[in-house]
Amino acid sequence: MSIQELAVETLSHYVDGAWHAAAGTAHSPIVNPATGQVIAQAPIADPSTVDHAVNAAHAAFLEWREVPVVERVQPLYKFKHLLEQNIEELAATVTDENGKTLTDSRMEVRRAIQMVEVACGMPSLMLGDSLSGVARGIDSATLRFPIGVCAGITPFNFPAMVPMWMYPFAIACGNTFVLKPSDKTPLTPVLAARLLAEAGLPKGVFNLLLGGQSTVEDLIAHPLVRGVSFVGSTPVARRVYEMAALKGKRVQALGGAKNHLVVMPDADLDKSVEAIMGSAFGGAGERCLAGSVVVTVGEVHNPLVSLLKERIEAMKVGPGKVAGCDMGPVVTGDHQRRILGYIDRGVAEGATLVCDGRPAAKQEGFFVGPTLFDNVTPQMTIAREEIFGPVLSVIRAESLDQAIDLVNKSPFGNASAIFTSSGKAAREYSVRVDAGMVGVNIGVPAPMAFFPFAGWKDSFFGDLHAHGKDAVSFYTEQKVVMSRWF
Ligand code: NAD
Repeated sequence: MSIQELAVETLSHYVDGAWHAAAGTAHSPIVNPATGQVIAQAPIADPSTVDHAVNAAHAAFLEWREVPVVERVQPLYKFKHLLEQNIEELAATVTDENGKTLTDSRMEVRRAIQMVEVACGMPSLMLGDSLSGVARGIDSATLRFPIGVCAGITPFNFPAMVPMWMYPFAIACGNTFVLKPSDKTPLTPVLAARLLAEAGLPKGVFNLLLGGQSTVEDLIAHPLVRGVSFVGSTPVARRVYEMAALKGKRVQALGGAKNHLVVMPDADLDKSVEAIMGSAFGGAGERCLAGSVVVTVGEVHNPLVSLLKERIEAMKVGPGKVAGCDMGPVVTGDHQRRILGYIDRGVAEGATLVCDGRPAAKQEGFFVGPTLFDNVTPQMTIAREEIFGPVLSVIRAESLDQAIDLVNKSPFGNASAIFTSSGKAAREYSVRVDAGMVGVNIGVPAPMAFFPFAGWKDSFFGDLHAHGKDAVSFYTEQKVVMSRWF
């Protein structure tokens, strides 16, 4: 470990209402992607720490489930206000560890706060159904009960928002929670946990463990964990789903993506290009909703590609905290090399490189410039695999039918969008495309707290999606009570 690595803050696990320094255990470095400098060290939770956290969460659950729902949401109201008061620090922390621009980080924190706001409505959301007189003198009602200790495992790309797809809803429903955030971006979740502790949640209701694969495996395997919420890449989502399901746990596992944006000849070109730029290059393309492939239908192709080229060439790439930057770095050096490898592969497989993001990689930090490929075919690697970086491919189609067919052949189905001025084409696309989120003249059909969110096919393993009413169903069990009084 270098002197610089030793000098930075070492994070702690948060278990049973206290911060645990975990001295002497293995640590992993957290790196600022704009500089390549180590900014913190995170301990890796070992099996005994996982056991401690889950047992504390279970003990807390036995009391928390008895607290009336109107009282359970009170700390969440305070948490919302604390998040509001600390937006700037939270956003700066997201930028420091993830790299995205401050504007993107602020938007992310805002979306995270909306999750808490919706979860505060749990007294209404948890209402059951009732029917008087299901038979003579007999009434029936559904009651919802929390399921127990829930675990959340989250990715690097939205360290403020994705954890809040989970724990505000789980906790408001009466469960207790153990969060294992990304090992690349744990600083924001730790900061949020400090605010949640300040909001006055009873000890053990929310716990946070730092670590990677082994911590996740210990957490999922723990017999007292009843529900698992996962967001990350498809191979890990599939594995987490299998591991949890095999042990009879409730599981929702959101995976990776390869999102297609279809542009019809009657689309408003300027507005479509603006939306495509935001979709493909916002957050350096490290979004599960990022547009990765544009499918042009008919004669729109050439004008669209030249407008995209013009806009890309005007983009400023640099550290996310520098005012006026349109795009920050990608998250790690490994990820940067992976993306550069995909660009090399696109060239080698015969696609036309219109804008080359590789020169940006020469500067300090983990930068990749916005990259545009034309004349891409559906068989090419860049058209099939998730790149998760600022690389946009353009494929031609002759008709809407051909475009839908092409999009639906992808094994992923997270999101897709159509750009058109025809209501008929928009409806046709929305109904026939195999994706969980569909945009009509919207480049990022984003997760809204009050709607459920997840993809289809290899982008999602499970039944109930994240947040919205699905979260209430996921984090509760229903009971039907039938009564007759003599
Ligand atoms: P990742 O799968 O590498 O990691 C996600 C989480 O799983 C992290 O907490 C990590 O520590 C843990 N993990 C990593 N490898 C593991 C293993 N082998 N076993 C158990 N746990 C493991 O994902 P990432 O690189 O952090 O995030 C990017 C991916 O997440 C992309 O594929 C992106 O599309 C996806 N994502 C999906 C959504 C969605 O809503 N569908 C949202 C955000 C990100």
